[in-house]
Amino acid sequence: MSDDPRLGGDAGAPSEEEPEHVVQSDRRSPEDSFAVVGNEIRLSILRVLHERLSVGDRSEYALPYTELREAVGEEDSGKFSYHLNRLRGEFIEKRPEGYVIRYPGKELVRTVKSGAVAPAGVAESDPTDAACYLCGAPVIVAYTNGYVSARCTECRGALDFDFMPEGALSSIPVPGGAIGDGIDAAPRALLDRIHGRFCHHIRVFGDGSCARCGGRADLHLRVCSDHDANGGPCDECGTTMPATVRVTCEVCSEGGIVPAACLVSHRAPFREALADAGVDRLGYEAFAVAAGWPMRVVDDGTESAVEYDLPSGRVRVLICGDIEIREVGRSRRTPDQ
Ligand SMILES: [Zn+2]
Ligand SMILES: [Zn+2]
Ligand SMILES: [Zn+2]
Repeated sequence: MSDDPRLGGDAGAPSEEEPEHVVQSDRRSPEDSFAVVGNEIRLSILRVLHERLSVGDRSEYALPYTELREAVGEEDSGKFSYHLNRLRGEFIEKRPEGYVIRYPGKELVRTVKSGAVAPAGVAESDPTDAACYLCGAPVIVAYTNGYVSARCTECRGALDFDFMPEGALSSIPVPGGAIGDGIDAAPRALLDRIHGRFCHHIRVFGDGSCARCGGRADLHLRVCSDHDANGGPCDECGTTMPATVRVTCEVCSEGGIVPAACLVSHRAPFREALADAGVDRLGYEAFAVAAGWPMRVVDDGTESAVEYDLPSGRVRVLICGDIEIREVGRSRRTPDQ
């Protein structure tokens, strides 16, 4: 999601204020990109230019050399110019009216601001008014080393993996900066925010693209060969669902294991079923309804699929690389019709 329509635009004409020598690398490795912000002056230049995007309109995005140096607070102009030039080309651009941050520069600032490296540690909220989609008991918000979970206060939950708290109903990786003081101050709002974003994210994967980088997403149905979820998550597959979908980005490897219905909750007839359940926005409720729909595995030898019994009838979801939805039976609305 770029807000910069000038991706790949040219770096602009040099001005007399800056040294002749401008470092213009061809292609930087991700490690090199982090090295660029591993310096306080360079990071500060990027932050100042990024800040300009949220104040004023387009004509004010650019900062002339002197103003930029003052905003960064570096008095040694030689030193300042050196670091400025390290950023030129890929991360910032020189225009007649001054310096402007480019898309890769914005991404670096966003990464730093959102706290890409999540803090280690464990924290839990008080019980919220959200309900477990398996047993209806109150749910709490748990943070475990970079992951936010909805956790049931009564049952064993839907997921049982080493890194998750007992009773986990979800486990969603979250940049540390996004949590803030939400676990203590507003756990229900945090729960909705994290699950709402996750639902959007997963729908994008369901449509075949990585929600993180836009790369091609591979979808693969993962059927448990010896499923037993009586009394809690199955020992074999670690979940209460007889089948889940493994999603993987072929470019950045973003991915995970998700309930099939979450991938298609925006497509008919799932979206109507969500609306029937009273869900009108994406938050914990939307996740819980989709994850809690009864489902079963269909394997007729030629294709593997899962089937859901929705209010409108039985729906088959075929997953092999991408997704196909087939309605295989309509339910009768009333017994005497
Ligand atoms: Zn429960
Ligand atoms: Zn299983
Ligand atoms: Zn990706």
